[in-house]
Amino acid sequence: MNRPTFDFSGKRVYVAGHGGMVGSAIVRRLAREDCEILTADRGVDLRDQQAVNAWFAQARPDAVFMAAARVGGIAANDAYPAQFLYDNLMIEANVVEAARQVDTAKLLMLGSSCIYPREADQPIAEDALLTGPLEATNQWYAIAKIAGIRLCQAYRIEHGCDFISAMPTNLFGPGDNFDLDTSHVLPALIRKAHEAKVAGDEEMLVWGSGKPRREFLHVDDLADACVFLMREYSGAQHVNVGSGQELSITELARLVADIVGFEGKLAFDSTRHDGTPRKLLDSSRLNAMGWRPAITLEDGIAATYRHFLKDGGRRVMLRG
Ligand code: GDP
Repeated sequence: MNRPTFDFSGKRVYVAGHGGMVGSAIVRRLAREDCEILTADRGVDLRDQQAVNAWFAQARPDAVFMAAARVGGIAANDAYPAQFLYDNLMIEANVVEAARQVDTAKLLMLGSSCIYPREADQPIAEDALLTGPLEATNQWYAIAKIAGIRLCQAYRIEHGCDFISAMPTNLFGPGDNFDLDTSHVLPALIRKAHEAKVAGDEEMLVWGSGKPRREFLHVDDLADACVFLMREYSGAQHVNVGSGQELSITELARLVADIVGFEGKLAFDSTRHDGTPRKLLDSSRLNAMGWRPAITLEDGIAATYRHFLKDGGRRVMLRG
């Protein structure tokens, strides 16, 4: 392993989006490092350039984890294309430029596996980026996230900034959005299985055909990978962060139902989009650097269900 490229000791580390699922996981993980964790209060709107510049001038972070984003599942992307594109472009551009202005030593931009072409070869390697058309249902978010990668690369070339990007696969865990209109599939299935169990229903509704395949990573594993990359990695190429645990939506629904304790049948709503047929990341670059996930899908779902029972499912969309 090469020498670490960033040493957390005594550093000021800003987590943008600390109220969201990813940001809060990074804050939990950073508690084990010898650094000062900085978070902006909810009053700082990251879409507002003046507000962002003022926050950075005061906070002067040595490192930034860019986990702030407008996020949502397949239905939310369809319903709010302008918000998904505009908000994410503004947040990324404001944070990256403000970090440059105060000489932030390192920044990690977080994206998503939906940046890759719909028909990309599986598992998807980093160099599949921009080799084909995007999946229509999440193109707005994807375009913004591709711009985020390019922004880091451009600042690296033009300004010498050590800004890197990580592309996680589908995430889940504590702090997830359980709102059925805007959530991703895994929290949605937890809520549906729970409500079907409580109501004594004979079946629970799964969107689409159940055939698409997805890979899932627990957000605490992602947070650990982010800290690892911040410390160990410096390069223009973005890095995939996956678990290698891939299954069909039908298999996932059955697994969630079993963990939640819903014994009824699955019903499929064919009026809903399937989205990308398959989305499995090739995480061999990250694995070769020495990082591996620690949380199994079964354990992760069980822990997330316990959080759901405690929280009752919050509505979280803008991770500011
Ligand atoms: P995607 O990975 O960007 O396609 O986003 P999602 O996590 O929202 O959806 C993944 C897959 O799960 C799609 O094929 C959905 O149609 C399917 N799915 C099945 N049931 C649900 C549900 O209740 N909510 C969501 N969001 N997706 C569901």
